[in-house]
Amino acid sequence: MPKGSRKNANGQVAGKADLPTKICPACNRPFAWRRKWARDWPQVKYCSDRCRSLGAS
Ligand SMILES: [Zn+2]
Repeated sequence: MPKGSRKNANGQVAGKADLPTKICPACNRPFAWRRKWARDWPQVKYCSDRCRSLGAS
């Protein structure tokens, strides 16, 4: 996270363009935070269920 990025009271970066991203280890592509992951973003590793199944095997 670059310095100076604004955050709201929840610690989330303000602005749609500044959503946190991770690299999916299955397809090696970046994916952005999604609302469905709001509760367990720290545990999210894969961009999709499909990649998760690939990565788990
Ligand atoms: Zn993936």
